[in-house]
Amino acid sequence: MIKELQVQGVFAENTYFYIDDHSKSGFIIDPGAQAGLIYDIVVRNGWTIEKILLTHGHFDHIGAAELLREKLVAPIYIYPEDAPYLTDPYLNLSGNSGQPITVPHYEEMYDGEIIRLKANSDFYLKVIHTPGHTPGSVTYYSPNDNAAFVGDLLYQHGPGLTNFPGGNRMVLEESIVNKIFTLPNKTVLLSGHSSPITVGQEKQILL
Ligand SMILES: [Zn+2]
Repeated sequence: MIKELQVQGVFAENTYFYIDDHSKSGFIIDPGAQAGLIYDIVVRNGWTIEKILLTHGHFDHIGAAELLREKLVAPIYIYPEDAPYLTDPYLNLSGNSGQPITVPHYEEMYDGEIIRLKANSDFYLKVIHTPGHTPGSVTYYSPNDNAAFVGDLLYQHGPGLTNFPGGNRMVLEESIVNKIFTLPNKTVLLSGHSSPITVGQEKQILL
């Protein structure tokens, strides 16, 4: 089961719950804000959250992570090249907001890693390193559900932004073409700031 929740911070951002229907356990992806609301949804549904997965280190994707780590007792995962964003408000773009955000406790993962649910080993996400928006941006891919959580790599209307520290337009385009457009056309791309779009539809827009 995939449930989307649009959280409201400085920007609206899509937080995703990826939950196994059988065990009621799963992952939260990019809890950007409103930790209390996210926590209430988890409790109300009787879910167990095993891990908090971040697609990248920008403030609007990580803002609720630390509070949820404490309340849910679930570790936070980030790709190594984006780890500096978690502890540097300048890099994560919260520095001038008046409310600098840091995420001091996290684990790292590697490209190609399979993040498997302890409660059901058939339920998993594959880590695909998709840099460009930030150096350590990743996509979490579920072949079983034909879904990919892409963060800010791309949106329904086109590619993600690259005008922030560490962004690189050429690298972003390489990630989209080599890592996303090689997934099956029916794969649903779930981004941080738009409605879903399939790989096939996104190809028609960008190619
Ligand atoms: Zn971002």
